[in-house]
Amino acid sequence: MMTTPDPTDRGAGAGQRLSIVVPVFNEAAGLAALHQRLIALAQDLARDHRLACEVIYVDDGSSDDTLAITRALPATALGIQVVSLSRNFGKEAALLAGLDHAGPGAVMFMDGDGQHSPQLAATLVRHWIADGYDVVYTAKAHRNHESWLRRVAVHGFYALINWGARQKIPEDAGDFRLLSPRAAAALRRLPERNRFFKGLASWIGFRQFRVDYEPEPRAHGATRFRLSQLLGLSIEGLTSFSVAPLRLASLLGVAVAVVALLFGLSILWETWIDGKSVPGYPSLAVGLMTLGGVQLIVIGIVGEYVGKILSELKQRPSYFVAEHSVRPAEQPADEKTPADALHD
Ligand code: UDP
Ligand code: MG
Repeated sequence: MMTTPDPTDRGAGAGQRLSIVVPVFNEAAGLAALHQRLIALAQDLARDHRLACEVIYVDDGSSDDTLAITRALPATALGIQVVSLSRNFGKEAALLAGLDHAGPGAVMFMDGDGQHSPQLAATLVRHWIADGYDVVYTAKAHRNHESWLRRVAVHGFYALINWGARQKIPEDAGDFRLLSPRAAAALRRLPERNRFFKGLASWIGFRQFRVDYEPEPRAHGATRFRLSQLLGLSIEGLTSFSVAPLRLASLLGVAVAVVALLFGLSILWETWIDGKSVPGYPSLAVGLMTLGGVQLIVIGIVGEYVGKILSELKQRPSYFVAEHSVRPAEQPADEKTPADALHD
């Protein structure tokens, strides 16, 4: 039986609020254009759903003019918050800062490089308001343009992270997603410091809906995520979501032990039945090296988890805010938007 969603989450959207969280790290070149598209989006949402919007730009320690540009953006039709972090904390921390500053309404996460189209954002909002979904996430429709090596790696990652998990993290899900007010509230209640938003947003449950999309090409500059960072994020995601690597380590231990046993039996067979003498030296070296390697791998895996425990134990904040400004939406003279209801 399906339970009816909280009635405050449905209906025409009248009086509802939406906070759009946009992490920006050296995005000066494309920011003005993105903001124009967000203004158009906010006007559409105000007209179609009577939805009040605010955008929260989280400046993740940019070294270019990003912060100055965000300060000067017009607050037409949507309120603007600028949260400037004290240094570059990384995208996940920036998303958390945005979530912490968002109003009590729905929250949408969107990249600041123009790859997440505001048109699609309107679709996400529709699935929330009209269809009553709590977590509307986007996922890459295909990975045809990516190398097979990357595809295999991604597939392996999700296979591992979802191994034995009750709530599977959908493969290919991106960070472009919308959370209903109650889903956003649930996400806020998760206490961990190490955030892996894709996973957490799925883990909280509620009614989830997938929208396939093709990311637009980056408007300016290049991706900030190098292979090493992606690897780091994957390890982060894996260790905070599953103990699959630990299980894998145990299995590896069992497998090596079984092989060693079989090997021992075969040697006994050779000595007793075939009557061969045992030369031994190379097999001894190989055995030692195999065991040494396996032990190091397993210690490394355990170490990842110990490190994770340490960083959670320290309870350091995920980010520091250097500067925070709030500007309510300016009412265009001819049309009345409910956007300024955000900061009353
Ligand atoms: N970003 C951030 N902090 C960082 C790196 C990236 O806030 O340390 C932001 C960046 O400005 C962009 C979003 O995260 O809005 C996605 O970054 P990017 O486009 O480089 O990643 P990709 O789209 O390749 O996953
Ligand atoms: Mg991008």
